[in-house]
Amino acid sequence: MSSLGSSERIEPEPCGHRVAASFARGIASVCLALLNVTAWAAPTAFELPPEPVDVRSFIEHVELLEDNTGELSIEDVSQRFDSSFEPATPATANVGFTDSVYWVRFKLANANETPRKVFVRQTYPLIDSLDLYEQTPDGAWRQTSTGDRQPFASRPVAHRDFLFPLIVPPQAEGIYYLRYRSQGPIDISLTLSSAEQVIGAISEEQVAFGIYFGCVLMLLVWSGLVFIAVRDKAFFAYFAYVAAFGLYMLVNNGLAFQFLWPASPRWANTSLLVLLHLAGFTALQFSRVILRSSDYTPKLDRIAQGLQLVFVISLLISPLFSYAAIVVPLTGLIMVAVLYMLFLGTVSMISGSRPARFYLLAWGSFLAGSIVFLLKNFGVVPHTFLSQNGWQLGALVEMILLSMSLSSRMNELKHQSRTDSLTLLGNRRLFDDKLPTEFALARHLHRPLSLLMLDIDHFKAYNDRHGHAQGDEAIKVVANALRRHTRKPFTACRYGGEEFTVILPGADASAAENLAERLRTTVQEGLSGDLAITISVGYASLSQGRFDSEDQLFEGADFALYSAKQQGRNRVVAFSGRRSEDVKVADAAASAVDG
Ligand code: GH3
Ligand code: MG
Ligand code: MG
Repeated sequence: MSSLGSSERIEPEPCGHRVAASFARGIASVCLALLNVTAWAAPTAFELPPEPVDVRSFIEHVELLEDNTGELSIEDVSQRFDSSFEPATPATANVGFTDSVYWVRFKLANANETPRKVFVRQTYPLIDSLDLYEQTPDGAWRQTSTGDRQPFASRPVAHRDFLFPLIVPPQAEGIYYLRYRSQGPIDISLTLSSAEQVIGAISEEQVAFGIYFGCVLMLLVWSGLVFIAVRDKAFFAYFAYVAAFGLYMLVNNGLAFQFLWPASPRWANTSLLVLLHLAGFTALQFSRVILRSSDYTPKLDRIAQGLQLVFVISLLISPLFSYAAIVVPLTGLIMVAVLYMLFLGTVSMISGSRPARFYLLAWGSFLAGSIVFLLKNFGVVPHTFLSQNGWQLGALVEMILLSMSLSSRMNELKHQSRTDSLTLLGNRRLFDDKLPTEFALARHLHRPLSLLMLDIDHFKAYNDRHGHAQGDEAIKVVANALRRHTRKPFTACRYGGEEFTVILPGADASAAENLAERLRTTVQEGLSGDLAITISVGYASLSQGRFDSEDQLFEGADFALYSAKQQGRNRVVAFSGRRSEDVKVADAAASAVDG
């Protein structure tokens, strides 16, 4: 690529600071060499084929000129530097970050006897300033000025990309220049098509975008509603991340310029930086919450907090610097953050976190998509729909998988809320949920159902004698006995303190009696000597009487336990037809008689 000053020819630039761009060019030229593609034919006029015109890679038919002063006019480039243009290749056209202005020149030849209308489309939409120059019959230049730093209305066609309609006169050649200047990377990617082809391509793209952003919107609404319902901060962090990243995608595809802020190109450009910062910050926040890193890996959590702080500082100081000065280090920062989140996820998964599995898959697919996209940019893999949109697809898959890590977290939270932390048995909440269901099922299916109630004997005294810690050990001994002897569909719960319950669907009175007896002896043998404990068990079975509700079954078992205590403890007692409320009634009657 030749570079030009305002008055003299300058040798090819070393491009020392444009690492990314020259790396891209380097790799691409190696690939081209491997493919044995040597010099490109100098473009003459591009002969418009019969309708329809659909040239997806028009780059091979254009010439390029780098103006590193940025001061050349259309007259300069069309006259004085006319011979300095060089044929473009996909590699030289993907310039990357540059302070130079790039000029594109192409000629279209129309052999027909009528004028032909075609559209040239710049398919990378983030170009600050893009001017089209067309020569009028009198030799003057007609200029169309647009770019993403101009109001959206400046565009000849209202579209997220830059679309220029060109009319080639009959039996003539038209010559056209495009002038590119941008603080972000310059990716000169052009297609040439007739109107029908443009319409077809755009309608396909719009459907794809509709599906894509429809999915993003769905995830956003879902996480927002769940957050409102359960107030779990993981959902809020997820919501914020999807909002920031989804909006960033809208900007990146040029859609935000058209639909969100068409009259504020300044903000549209700034928004890209703001949203990238926010996406990085919220992704880290979400990771910290979902992986519970402050609990499990406090040191790693502090590093994640540090990275968040860097995002905040970078955002705050970004107005002081140019776009280019911010966006390059920011890209690096984002890569560091993504790798760090992968690391954090790996550590969490190794230490047994279930949400971490989805979490890791999520960031893995994001990274995979991004790598494919980078390889495409560097010319290693060909430009296909998948390689071009790979990272956007990767990002969508990532958001979906992250939402699954949220669901997994919900399950974990639900499980936790129904688990007793000392014994890891079900707790009272689980029991209260489960008993009515099992009672209704048993009644409906005419199936047996029994309920055990267990209570440690003289536990107050035991605690006093051996201390509370040993008391806890004794509680665990009972829990272990329950775990050993109860399998699904039986459910053992710690009802409270030193009281336990077992719901026994399908078990009749004798099965309940057997289990109770086994539990009693196991507990008795669980601790030796002075430390030994005993339990009293009461049970009630549906077959033993008339139970109109689960509460009556519960009271039956509870009264049987009361009876076991009355009869001297360390024993199993069956429901006798009396419930605690019967006792209360009887006691009241007795005291009335006494009175
Ligand atoms: P009874 O044979 O009649 O059941 O006598 P008890 O002393 O076991 O009866 P009570 O229900 O009055 O006492 C229960 C004691 O259990 C009171 C409390 O100190 C103790 N306790 C309850 N929860 C825990 C716990 O989580 N750990 C320990 N160590 N003790 C507990
Ligand atoms: Mg008790
Ligand atoms: Mg007790």
